[in-house]
Formats: sequence, structure tokens, C-alpha cells
Amino acid sequence: MAKIIDGRTIAAQIRTEVGREVARLRDAGIELKLSAILVGEDPASRIYVRTKRRACSEVGITSEVMKLPSTVPEEELLQRIDSLNGDSRVSGILVQRPLPGHISVDEVLEAVTPEKDVDGFHPRNLGRLLAGSPSFVPATPLGIQELLLRSGHPPDGRDVVIVGRSDLVGKPLAALLMRKSEGANATVTVCHSSTRRLEAHTKRANILVVAAGSPGFIRGHMVKAGAVVIDVGINRVEDARNPKGYRIVGDVAFEEVSKVARAITPVPGGVGPMTVAMLLRNTVTAGSRQSGQTF
Ligand code: NAD
Repeated sequence: MAKIIDGRTIAAQIRTEVGREVARLRDAGIELKLSAILVGEDPASRIYVRTKRRACSEVGITSEVMKLPSTVPEEELLQRIDSLNGDSRVSGILVQRPLPGHISVDEVLEAVTPEKDVDGFHPRNLGRLLAGSPSFVPATPLGIQELLLRSGHPPDGRDVVIVGRSDLVGKPLAALLMRKSEGANATVTVCHSSTRRLEAHTKRANILVVAAGSPGFIRGHMVKAGAVVIDVGINRVEDARNPKGYRIVGDVAFEEVSKVARAITPVPGGVGPMTVAMLLRNTVTAGSRQSGQTF
């Protein structure tokens, strides 16, 4: 049976480290603040923002949320972002997605100043990642790399197969893990919805990362014996036995795959907590850079 890679425990270690750094900065007179913008009433987005704020408060980072109606004109949203860009008390800015259809995601991502872009989605930060000198790296890919390293599965020299080519996960993760740098140096294959013979790729992977958004999509026969499997998926499936009427599952058929793999992340409790922990770390990095300190 596969060993469980416990994202909750590893994320707690990172939060402790971040908390120490926040205290060190506070001793030097530097306060950190994360500003989140939440547009509309999407229930999942509200939960994500609440989770991030709770994590901030745990490590001593002040946070605030600017709630805007789903009808907010794009121009007003861009002005709000600009005022946060110019506010010296704000260390990091995040705009929770999804955004309503009338708002251009590209315009919004470009509006956040790269120095406060703790989500790492500004084209300049993504470009720097691709060019091999990252500044802010998106939190989920960063969390996946950290999970691999801290659980004793460095990607260096390994065949890493990523299922999913999204701008949030698959693409930046590929750029991160193929970097010429210790803790990366992987041979990366990115599979997507037009990939033919997906199984031929997944079966080759020493490290298989799945971010397809499809519950239980990766089955046992698609995984190489002894592989390390990182399940990024967060899917709600109906479950009448659960008081909520649903439960959260990943993109990997956990029971089957854990009989084949060497190690596997659970859902929940795998990549999710790491994403939040890395957002905190990015916020500390932002605040300390803005103050001229190093982290
Ligand atoms: P997305 O919907 O933007 O992208 C899905 C990707 O999967 C696409 O690139 C698509 O080509 C690929 N795909 C879909 N069906 C496929 C198939 N049959 N074969 C091969 N590839 C296929 O998704 P995303 O934003 O990257 O998110 C993916 C999943 O990860 C979702 O469940 C999301 O909720 C979850 N997620 C989790 C975290 C976290 O912190 N744990 C963070 C971000 C996203």
C-alpha cells in the first residue's frame, strides 16, 4: 500500500516557519498585510477567501477582504486594485477567481503590481518563471514542489507527467519542475484533453501529478508500480450518506491507485493545505522585499 503524503502536517510545518519569519519582521517594525478582493457571491470562493484569511491570522499576517458585487464594472475593480497597489501598508494582493463574465481576467491579472502579486499570475511573474529566474510562483505549483521535497521525493532526474495544462496549475508546474535547479531538474510531460493514449504517458511517470478536474479519473491500471502520485483535484460529488449531501474527492481513484503507487496525496489533506501555506510564504516574501529585508 502506498504511503500517504500528509499535506496537512507538512503545511503546518511551513506555517510555523512563516510565523517565525512574520515575528522577526514585526520585531524589525515591519507589519504584513494581505488584501483579498472577492467579486460576487460564489460560495466556494467565499470559503477559499475565509480559509486564507484564517491562515493569515494564525501566522500573524493582517488580512482584509474587499467584497464587491458581481455587477461591479471592470473599471471600478481596476481602480480598487490600483489603490491597493499604491497603499504602502498592503504587502500582497489577491483577486479571487472566478470573476464574472463581463470582467477580463487578463486585465485584472495585469493590474496587480508584480511586486504584490502573491498569486504569481502577473505575466511578468509567469515570464520570469519560464525564463528560469522566478520571482513569485503560483501557490499550488510551489506547494506541490515543496510536498515532493519534504516527503523525500525530489523530482530531479525523474520522469514527471502532469495531467492538465491550466494556467493555474499544469503550465506553471511544468515550468517550475523543469528548471535547471536543485529540487527541480525533472523531465516533464504535460498531458491535456487532446492527448492521445493518455495511459501510455501516465504509466511512464515516476511522479504523476493530476490536475484535470474530473473525479476519480486516474485509475489503478494507468499508474506505474512504485510511482509517486500527487492529486490536485478538488471535486464535489453527491453523497446522500454525508450530512452535507456531498463529499470532496480528487482526480485519482484513491483506493485503486494506492495499491500500485509508492506514495500518494489524499484529498482532502494533500495539495490543498499546501496552496494556502505557500500563499502565506509568498506574502512574507513580498513584505520583506518591499521593506528591503531578505527572506
Ligand atoms: P482546469 O479545468 O482549468 O484544467 C483542467 C485541465 O485538465 C485542462 O488543461 C484539460 O486539458 C485537462 N483535462 C481535462 N480532461 C482531460 C482528459 N480526459 N485527459 C487529459 N487531460 C484532461 O483545471 P485547474 O484549474 O487546473 O484545476 C484542476 C483541478 O484541480 C480542479 O479539480 C480544481 O478544483 C483543482 N485545484 C486544486 C487546487 C488545490 O489547491 N488543491 C488548486 C487549483 C485547482
